Amino acid sequence: MSFNLAARLAERRAAHLYRQRPLLEGPQGPEVVVDGQALLAFCSNDYLGLANHPEVTAAMRAGAERWGVGGGASHLVIGHSTPHHQLEEALAEFTGRPRALLFSTGYMANLAAVTALVGQGDTVLEDRLNHASLLDAGLLSGARFSRYLHNDAVSLSKRLDGASGNTLVVSDGVFSMDGDLADLPTLCAEARSKGAWMMVDDAHGFGPLGASGGGIVEHFRLGLDDVPVLVGTLGKAFGTAGAFVAGSEELIETLIQFARPYIYTTSQPPAVACATLKSLEVLRTESWRREHLNKLIARFRAGAAEIGLSLMDSPTPIQPILVGDSERALQLSALLMARGLLVGAIRPPTVPAGSARLRVTLSALHSEVQLERLLDALAECWPLVNHDA
Ligand SMILES: *Cc1c(COP(=O)(O)O)cnc(C)c1O
Repeated sequence: MSFNLAARLAERRAAHLYRQRPLLEGPQGPEVVVDGQALLAFCSNDYLGLANHPEVTAAMRAGAERWGVGGGASHLVIGHSTPHHQLEEALAEFTGRPRALLFSTGYMANLAAVTALVGQGDTVLEDRLNHASLLDAGLLSGARFSRYLHNDAVSLSKRLDGASGNTLVVSDGVFSMDGDLADLPTLCAEARSKGAWMMVDDAHGFGPLGASGGGIVEHFRLGLDDVPVLVGTLGKAFGTAGAFVAGSEELIETLIQFARPYIYTTSQPPAVACATLKSLEVLRTESWRREHLNKLIARFRAGAAEIGLSLMDSPTPIQPILVGDSERALQLSALLMARGLLVGAIRPPTVPAGSARLRVTLSALHSEVQLERLLDALAECWPLVNHDA
């Protein structure tokens, strides 16, 4: 019994860090049934409400009729089919990059890009609040790995001065647990001035940010020279599944030749690519979704300030409420659930110790009335857990 799993699990439970999976008994949307209870959810990453969009669903169904359900093989063998190829071309055009490469998940896209670009003798510098997949990618690469202070160009600059070999600077575009934007104009200029490449993972920016949903690079008008390696994921605002890396012809060919997480895995089902082609079209053209979302964000922040909640510096649909203590974050989440609202408590190690929070996320499908329900419930529940107040 050398593994002693029971002790590990008990320890995690005692620290209020035990994780459970709510069982969703229907499609994504504001109104869900979870573990038999009807709830109003504010925790999905389906920011634009495309995961259950009838046209996207129809595109997937039609795709399955035409292309079957399995990818069949890796892209390099016989798994690269016409819908995958069309989606790559559409994503290249959408991002304004020469080429894009499709992956089955964002986790794999990040492992692929970092490990194909840097290795022993090189350097990878990451924001300390980067997504776990980026941190894992940095460690797996074998390059010298160092984290700079969150969104801090001075801290990055010091590390760049000590870097050796090819140097890759890696940042989330929109930080997934805080909702704030990377200060890319400054960070990219810093990286460029020292000959380093910038890689941005904009999993949460594509869709909500930019006039046509083109994410943080559209928001800040950053080109290929500023951000040579651009990653997007398709399971969030796109509402489907998968991810992409966009960049130069040479970058994409390098990934196809050398990125093991690209080469040694089966392609995603082509029907999923058919669905994403449709969701990309909806994401770009239905700008009312972004406009409504921005109204909800402004109203939530105003309402939360009146209640005295500690919000983060976020202009995005990710609007965390900082609680601090894990147990109190769980209590607040449970109080809201008793009032019919689902908001997940995010605890360490997903966020730094002492910064447990309720990660409120908003969707274009939330109504203003639903948002008021959340604010009313928070006004009632917050004083019950916030003993300092
Ligand atoms: C969700 C997420 C990923 C992982 O993407 P998946 O497609 O879910 O594997 C990568 N990076 C960031 C910043 C994310 O939020």
